[in-house]
Amino acid sequence: ELGLKVDYASELNPDQLLAATTIEGKVLVIAGAGSGKTKTLTYRTSYLLENGVTPKSILLLTFTRKAANEIKSRAKVLLADTLSDDDLAKDTLPTSKMLNDVTSGTFHSFCNMLLRQYSGLLGINPRFTILDTGDSEDAIDLIHKEKKYPAQAKSQAFPRKKTLQNIISTSRNRRIHIRDLIESNYPDIAVHIPIIEQLAIDFHEYKRANHLYDFDDIISQVVRHLKTNDIFRQMLQNQYRYIMVDEYQDTNIPQKQLIDLICEPKSVSLMVVGDDNQSIYAFRGANYENILLFGETYPEAKLIKLEQNYRSTPAVLNYINALSAHITLGYQKQLYSSVSIEGCKPVFSHLNDETREAKYIADKIIELKPDHDYSDFAVLCRTSFQSNYVQLEFMERSIPFIVVGGIKFIERRHIKDVLAFVKILYNPNDTIAWHRILTLFQGVGAVTATRLTQAINDDNNSFEPLLTPKFAKKSEQLEPLYHTLTKASQAESVESIIEHVLEFYVPILKTLEENWRERNEDFRVLKNLATEYSSLDNFLENLALDPPNDSVATTSQPAQDDKDKVTISTIHSAKGLEWPVVFVNSLVDGITPHHRSLADFEELEEERKLFYVACSRAKTRLYLTAPDYFASYSGYFDKPSRFIAELSADEVEVKRSRKSLEMLASDDPVWW
Ligand code: ATP
Ligand code: MG
Repeated sequence: ELGLKVDYASELNPDQLLAATTIEGKVLVIAGAGSGKTKTLTYRTSYLLENGVTPKSILLLTFTRKAANEIKSRAKVLLADTLSDDDLAKDTLPTSKMLNDVTSGTFHSFCNMLLRQYSGLLGINPRFTILDTGDSEDAIDLIHKEKKYPAQAKSQAFPRKKTLQNIISTSRNRRIHIRDLIESNYPDIAVHIPIIEQLAIDFHEYKRANHLYDFDDIISQVVRHLKTNDIFRQMLQNQYRYIMVDEYQDTNIPQKQLIDLICEPKSVSLMVVGDDNQSIYAFRGANYENILLFGETYPEAKLIKLEQNYRSTPAVLNYINALSAHITLGYQKQLYSSVSIEGCKPVFSHLNDETREAKYIADKIIELKPDHDYSDFAVLCRTSFQSNYVQLEFMERSIPFIVVGGIKFIERRHIKDVLAFVKILYNPNDTIAWHRILTLFQGVGAVTATRLTQAINDDNNSFEPLLTPKFAKKSEQLEPLYHTLTKASQAESVESIIEHVLEFYVPILKTLEENWRERNEDFRVLKNLATEYSSLDNFLENLALDPPNDSVATTSQPAQDDKDKVTISTIHSAKGLEWPVVFVNSLVDGITPHHRSLADFEELEEERKLFYVACSRAKTRLYLTAPDYFASYSGYFDKPSRFIAELSADEVEVKRSRKSLEMLASDDPVWW
């Protein structure tokens, strides 16, 4: 009757419909996996547009940029499909086109955009560069070496840069003092607390002085400005009137503050959706309590629960429900399946070793292939390390695959090196990038690199100091570097900047790495990426905030159909996605759950949630596998995961290896 083009009532169930059409006030949608939370956001977006809401006033925050684009393109299809001939004839702006003006992305990309767009108002330099986690570690290491801190106590080893970065970041994201964090979580480095506290302060100052922002800064700077700058806050409150957040269970304190500050006025509409059972980012400071506290922050909020599951067959869902019953913290929820065919019970197979485990997975895929595309299958691993055997087996059997998660393309050393050149062209104050480049050269150590960087910055960021005899005598590479940078800074496109850099860098790489030929393939990918960008800042921003997950080097030989591949992914990167057939491997106690989590209730709980996320990706078939034993430098593990053992045969079919059968026959205490 409202003249809407999409038939919301027939495509959504009553609870989903309520969530999609309650467009004013604050709404929390809390629901289990596969209950249509993301789908509801999609329909709500199109509903807002159909009801005349200006696209620029909509803000859609998701966990990856890909997820945001997915929601927008689905909404686009919804609206486009319903365009009548009348509309087309009238040549009015179709509603689907409006989606281009909806602001969407991750918290990081949104905040990054704000800092650059409002740099004038906020009094900041818009030409800052972003430090990723690895860069931050390097910066901390550099500061630690350069500053003369008092001698370190010898009784406890000083933590490595990775640990230091983690401590500093966690203390900010969870709003805990470094002292308290170390005393409770890292007691074996407690004697170093004063130095680490000082290091955190110096790191902060260092970034400020050099226009560097790490991931945490991007969000917390915006929060700080929102708190202190009334004009800024009011501008955002006036612009973003309809805010939606997916995967709300994985927000951290600064992210929650950001939302709360913009949504303070009653008139700003906010809908967050999430599943507390799926919070798996505590290691990044995510606070699943945000979802539990929503009602306290917004007492007038409406709570909507979705209980119908549309993803999985009853047999798979039965298993997922049993898993979720073991999660103690949070809302309890039972899901009902909407799929009418009962389906196969999940199967747990206990295999002799990791090679057999990989073979089993490959066998199953080949067995099921006649009824499926390769892209129907996913192998989900606790960490990317657990995918090695599977990758080898797939290569041998010519099963095409793509690897998602794990070491990202831009985290590779040679890619970081090339990007360092690009970064200094954009922000010559990026001391970390300067260090990375200068210390590539023999004869240039950290001390010279620091002095040279200082000289360049003092000389108004000209490259001349590279040529002064004082420095030039240290390495004969400095003069060619000068010419390369000068040429590259005049280049017309991002791609040609990279070409100039490679001309200089590849010969150096040849002297550093034996397998430089393989790296060349990565450079081809990088150049391809560069062609998509017209400006340096967009290029660097996108690579830092939304890096490509895979590259040619992590994919197998191309299949006939380029897209038809099995996905091999970490569980973390599989969030929100679904496949008809899902394998979860390495289900050995000590790997899943991870041995480091066993002593801590909350960490163990998070491991359980991670397993729940993995299993709830499956639509029709779920295969769980474990080798008899798993040996690594961190230990020897030979019991199946407790997450399997605590469920009964009603929920899962078990196929044991010979060894575990022998264990059963003997009087040993067994796991089952
Ligand atoms: P997750 O917690 O894993 O992110 P989710 O709650 O976001 O899951 P969706 O991904 O939105 O769930 O939906 C799961 C699947 O169920 C999708 O394939 C979706 O198209 C389908 N689905 C959701 N709601 C309905 C519905 N009302 N009718 C038919 N299919 C639906
Ligand atoms: Mg979802």
